[in-house]
Amino acid sequence: MRVDQVLAAHAFGSKKTIKRLFQRRVVKVDGSVITEGSFNVERQLHQLTVEGKTVSIPKHYYFLFNKPAGVVTARKDNKCQTILDLLSSKDKHDGLYPVGRLDRDTEGLLLVTDNGQLGYQLLIPNKKVSKTYQVIVNERVTKEDVMAFSKGIEFIGGEVCLPAELKIISTSEKNSLVELTIHEGKFHQVKKMFLARGKKVTYLKRVAMGPLELDAILKPGDYRELTLTELQQLK
Ligand code: URA
Repeated sequence: MRVDQVLAAHAFGSKKTIKRLFQRRVVKVDGSVITEGSFNVERQLHQLTVEGKTVSIPKHYYFLFNKPAGVVTARKDNKCQTILDLLSSKDKHDGLYPVGRLDRDTEGLLLVTDNGQLGYQLLIPNKKVSKTYQVIVNERVTKEDVMAFSKGIEFIGGEVCLPAELKIISTSEKNSLVELTIHEGKFHQVKKMFLARGKKVTYLKRVAMGPLELDAILKPGDYRELTLTELQQLK
């Protein structure tokens, strides 16, 4: 949250009065003078003081989900259960939303937060935040496929993807288990990448996004708050 917004919420006065506090160099974050109201502070990460007195920073919420298949990545849906429906009543805070989207039949790591700025940073294309998926496809995956993914897959229709890392875990004529890391987030990207190689995805699970990894102990439908270390890695 912007430090000037925190001060406004604490009734430090008008915009002009708050600006003067910055000019007087009495606003400090972790002991260092802050002169810009746009500076971002986070309750879990920073200590804010004005004229030596601590000012509490509102808390943001960060929930790491193992999304189950059948649940939609939306805030509301008339027909299906949404990821927000899985929150227990004590965790249903205003402003929570899922960062990015997974298809209804996709499982795995999904971040839910009320920090719009952080969510935006994770999704903007030029940040190229990596996402890793466990994928089962309906036939053999070859070295040629690995090479094609590393060069950049061209969708049927001409759109070209950034180079991606494909690792074969096991493969046979009937199906293959692979791990795929991509650095962008096009609509149905993984399914369309394999389709461009003539293969169908039969199971898809996201296991990592940027520095976040899905814990093995989180069962589908379970979630937990991010640890402080994870939060620091995201910033
Ligand atoms: N790519 C897909 O095709 N589907 C997802 O849910 C995520 C990535």
